[in-house]
Amino acid sequence: MSSYEYIDHEYDVVVVGAGGAGLRATLGMAEQGLKTACVSKVFPTRSHTVAAQGGIAASLGNMDVGTEQNDHWQWHMYDTVKGSDWLGDTDAMEYLVREAPKAVYELEHYGVPFSRTEDGKIYQRPFGGHTTEFGEGPSVQRTCAAADRTGHAILHTLYGQSLKNNAEFYIEYFVTDLIMTEDGRCQGVIAWKLDDGTIHRFNAKMVVLATGGYGRAFFSATSAHTCTGDGGGMVARQGLPLQDMEFVQFHPTGIYGSGCLITEGARGEGGFLTNSEGERFMERYAPTYKDLASRDVVSRCMTIEIREGRGIGADGDHIHLNLSHLDPEALALRLPGISESAKIFAGVDVTKEPIPVLPTVHYNMGGVPTNYWGEVLDPTAKDHDRILPGLMAVGEAGCASVHGANRLGSNSLIDLVVFGRAAAIRAAEVVDPKTPNEPLNEASIAKSMARFDAMRHADGSISTADLRLEMQKTMQDDAAVFRTDKTLAEGCKKMEAIAKKMADIKVTDRSLIWNSDLMESLELANLMPNAMATIVGAEARKESRGAHAHEDYPDRDDKDWRKHTLARVDGHKVKLSYRDVHLEPLTKQADGGIDLKKIAPKARVY
Ligand SMILES: Cc1cc2nc3c(=O)[nH]c(=O)nc-3n(C[C@H](O)[C@H](O)[C@H](O)COP(=O)(O)OP(=O)(O)OC[C@H]3O[C@@H](n4cnc5c(N)ncnc54)[C@H](O)[C@@H]3O)c2cc1C
Repeated sequence: MSSYEYIDHEYDVVVVGAGGAGLRATLGMAEQGLKTACVSKVFPTRSHTVAAQGGIAASLGNMDVGTEQNDHWQWHMYDTVKGSDWLGDTDAMEYLVREAPKAVYELEHYGVPFSRTEDGKIYQRPFGGHTTEFGEGPSVQRTCAAADRTGHAILHTLYGQSLKNNAEFYIEYFVTDLIMTEDGRCQGVIAWKLDDGTIHRFNAKMVVLATGGYGRAFFSATSAHTCTGDGGGMVARQGLPLQDMEFVQFHPTGIYGSGCLITEGARGEGGFLTNSEGERFMERYAPTYKDLASRDVVSRCMTIEIREGRGIGADGDHIHLNLSHLDPEALALRLPGISESAKIFAGVDVTKEPIPVLPTVHYNMGGVPTNYWGEVLDPTAKDHDRILPGLMAVGEAGCASVHGANRLGSNSLIDLVVFGRAAAIRAAEVVDPKTPNEPLNEASIAKSMARFDAMRHADGSISTADLRLEMQKTMQDDAAVFRTDKTLAEGCKKMEAIAKKMADIKVTDRSLIWNSDLMESLELANLMPNAMATIVGAEARKESRGAHAHEDYPDRDDKDWRKHTLARVDGHKVKLSYRDVHLEPLTKQADGGIDLKKIAPKARVY
């Protein structure tokens, strides 16, 4: 093994990731006087959050939708519970929707340039699955937007505010592993500085994982190439479980071919889908909310249309999204970015022609299990709810769980800022800046560096790119929009063989400076446990719920399956266990909380 020298750093808090979740956590920690470092493998404003278009959900009630009151947190809660297909944790969901307006006004005050209504309030648009009167009333306008560049606006604002509050940034540092004590406490992280090859050890009282999703485990995804589930990989390597990984959201409108996203805001602003017969087919499947039914529902309907021979194109393999009936001025004002994407990636002028689209992997509901403060839960505890000291996970990397089996559009950006903020509030309570940091566990560091060195010198027979493609194609084929016992069983077998091939990987570049070959190999090593947990968890779940549509078990089974999956991954082996869904709200009805009967399970129709 090569020898490595370390550059050491000491902080109260180290946040891994500079997307919306990481930056909101960083800002909150720094504002409260905690010495905070934010470590990111890409420049902060290049994190995937920058691509979020449609907006951020909060029941501000700025738009008149014809109901007595424009919006209410309880309606947002009902929609989130129903969207999750009754798998979300009730306390976390209540926390999310009640804190949402506060978190959005804070963003406004930090300087996010939201679009405005005539009278100067934050503009809000309709989004799929967001309704009024506990699903009985018309669609609500709940999604706050900065044109179709909402994530961009949020990320730039949070980065500026974090700098203003003296958070320190380590940019283009790739975090390879957590540093853990023998008794299972997290003490910090190890990072490889990509541009000069130095290795850094960060000692911290609290580590916050905000590393985003793992869309790149699939062949066609809307997410950035950097979305490789690194946080999940690090956690899995410590023998800790990942939660609800079988729930993968397909977005109905990825551009056919490139996978580039067309926001749901396009349908929110009046766009609709048609099949090869020119039929507006969503009216048949979801008579009330039509094209604005929730994402899993729309994706499945599109897939059925294609399968039944009503797809578009020579191969009948996609669907049309129509926007040309909309006022061109409104399109230019509200959806300028997607008009450009459609031009570049599909060669289409949206004012004249429909956009060819296809359901594309978009979001990972599963992740590192946490409570609603972002604290990672210790699975070895009997009730699975003991807190693992020193470690938090927020954003798409975490699973609080507010999205359950399916996330509603615009509920992720709000999750990032609400739980990024919650993590900071909690850290201020549990981190004492006055106590010195403890020395790092050398054994944990040595183990991690041995893995790093072995990867650097890996001399097997299969390239990282080839093995990654095998994994992506298998996941795309066998853990898709519709799943069967047969596809899942075959997929598990194939994935097991693919995961075993990690031992035979070939890295050709041995240097430490800008070695993208090594970085992609480390990313593949992180994608693999995420993918394994996804497909094995899916194979085991004998029901249909949210994004998990199982053709052999078409119904939801609350008696046996209203529970969270926990998956411990060790190489190609996955061990599953389960954990109860939290059914208790934060606030009793008598104290102004929601009537639990209102959110009791029922059939999920739109
Ligand atoms: C195209 C697109 C559009 C979307 N639109 C919307 C929308 O309109 N509304 C909505 O609510 N949701 C939307 N979503 C979902 C939402 O944007 C994402 O879930 C969210 O942005 C994830 O944010 P995050 O902070 O968790 O992670 P990311 O923004 O993905 O950031 C991850 C961070 O972790 C860092 N990182 C990762 N691994 C490492 C490592 N090993 N070492 C160091 N740093 C690391 C990266 O550098 C990056 O800074 C959209 C998603 C996509 C893909």
